[in-house]
Amino acid sequence: MKITNRKKALLGFAASTILVLGACGDQGVPVYGVDSVYNNETPDVYGIPYDPDPVPEYGVEIDDTYYDPDPVPEYGVDYYDPYEDYQDYFYSTGITDEIFARMEGKSFKEDCTLPREDLCYLHVLHKNLEGETLEGEMVVNKYIAEDVLDIMMKLYEADYPIERIQLVDDYDADDELSMEANNSSSFNFRFISHTTKVSKHGLGLAVDINTLYNPYVKTVDGELIIEPVTAEPYTHREDDFPYKIEKDDLCYQLFIEHGFEWGGDWENRKDYQHFEIPDDMVEQLYPGMR
Ligand SMILES: [Zn+2]
Repeated sequence: MKITNRKKALLGFAASTILVLGACGDQGVPVYGVDSVYNNETPDVYGIPYDPDPVPEYGVEIDDTYYDPDPVPEYGVDYYDPYEDYQDYFYSTGITDEIFARMEGKSFKEDCTLPREDLCYLHVLHKNLEGETLEGEMVVNKYIAEDVLDIMMKLYEADYPIERIQLVDDYDADDELSMEANNSSSFNFRFISHTTKVSKHGLGLAVDINTLYNPYVKTVDGELIIEPVTAEPYTHREDDFPYKIEKDDLCYQLFIEHGFEWGGDWENRKDYQHFEIPDDMVEQLYPGMR
């Protein structure tokens, strides 16, 4: 570790203070001086009770310097990367009670027909456009948990920009709000409109990435439907803009390699943010639910 001049100064200060403290401990032994011999009283001046384990008394900064068993570097990020062991930050767990409490009544709605046990919580790292490392959370179906973890790690390693990966519950499970915030997510229970079929997001078998810049676009009766509604500028796919998912970019490639299909490939509508497990696979996993 690089030690800065300021740190050296602090360490030097601490070393000299320790010597003083050692002396302080010796002072605790009563040394009877001339006065106390003559007045035959318990010496007031010299009779400091002996303290076998002196606690430093000379200010907070001293404690900080030599009593911290695991000091965290404070002098800039150039020599210290908290995510050096970044693989440790990519992991999955079941839906603990704590996580479930965040989801209940939101993404995990009252009428949710998917068992809680079929879902996994993922913790990941990702980088935004500025190259900053951020921690992300996503709930997905357990059947794709390892795939999504692997995809996310490879995207992180390649500095592929993803702005935010939060549970949709942080947006009250409101897809529109989550998309307007450019949030990337997966599970949000819902039936397909006017049916009893569960959508692929409702099964946690679809993942949306950088949703504001990769909107859902469909023409109904000559009218353009765009989700989120704020994403009109990003429906012009020939334009250049950040976070754009394109055929053959790394995000597309990784999801396709892992068996997903891309909504940007659809014919009668486009869902540029959307990667999903194919119908036949979903039917095998959840016969009759769709
Ligand atoms: Zn989607």
